[in-house]
Amino acid sequence: MKTMQGEPVALVTGGSSGFGLLTAVELARRGFAVIAGIRRMEAQAGLMDAAAEAGVQGKIVAVRLDVTDPAGVADAAAYIRRQYGRLDVLVNNAGTAYGGFVEEVPAAIWQEQMDTNFHGMVRVTQAVLPIMRERGKGRIIQMSSISGRIGFPGYAPYASSKFAMEGFSECLALEAKPFGIDVVLVEPGAYGTPIWDKGFAQMSAPEGSPYRAMMDKVLAFSRKSARQGGDPKEVAELVARIACMKRPAFRYALPGSTRLTLRAKAILPGRL
Ligand code: NAD
Repeated sequence: MKTMQGEPVALVTGGSSGFGLLTAVELARRGFAVIAGIRRMEAQAGLMDAAAEAGVQGKIVAVRLDVTDPAGVADAAAYIRRQYGRLDVLVNNAGTAYGGFVEEVPAAIWQEQMDTNFHGMVRVTQAVLPIMRERGKGRIIQMSSISGRIGFPGYAPYASSKFAMEGFSECLALEAKPFGIDVVLVEPGAYGTPIWDKGFAQMSAPEGSPYRAMMDKVLAFSRKSARQGGDPKEVAELVARIACMKRPAFRYALPGSTRLTLRAKAILPGRL
């Protein structure tokens, strides 16, 4: 893709659906050349349709990017360096969401959750940091969650990955600042995106589990939260606004987060 001289460049991971797709479009509308990292290239059709609808076709290019694949991440970073020679904004958005009670979550789920949401995010960040550092300029926007700040019963795998992201971000913000790179955390509450139809949807407490009754409440709460959550566009708009700000704050919690927390306090058992 040819970019205009001086056009800022953004990479959005998990760019084929939900917040990632909407953010890619919103950034393109604000004048960024957008690279949407996509795990499976077949998934790019929806993104390209959305780009066409918003009148930004040609401003978004999809590249194959599975954040759990080290070689693929290195290839994507090399492509950005070769093709654009700069990266102004990275949105670490790719993620999965698994729930379950600590005693009952299988090792493979803990592993997959951390591999994607934490190690994948670290991998992409490490791969592109040199591109930003060499230009003395860059912004890394971390799609965390209200679950990166507050624990809920049944959310330990997901919350662990987002708490890890937050700790990583606090350290990186201090390390990268002298190189002109800032790090910003975004903490949405519940929004009805496809993420709720995957990992969380498979949450269960097996027959005879001591957590069964709690799981029923957690599931009811989660479904209600996803149904009643805000419009995912408000998250994309916030991320795009942060990308354009002169001096963003370190952390942005969306109003939906506060509503969710208050509801959770009222609904969920086992609160601290
Ligand atoms: P989503 O499922 O539409 O988006 C997640 C994206 O990540 C998908 O496009 C998926 O293909 C991609 N992805 C998953 N594994 C990947 C991998 N290994 N490599 C590359 N891409 C991968 O749901 P969403 O709600 O838009 O989620 C985006 C981010 O927002 C996630 O990090 C999620 O944790 C966070 N978040 C979502 C909510 C919510 O309620 N929807 C709330 C807070 C935070």
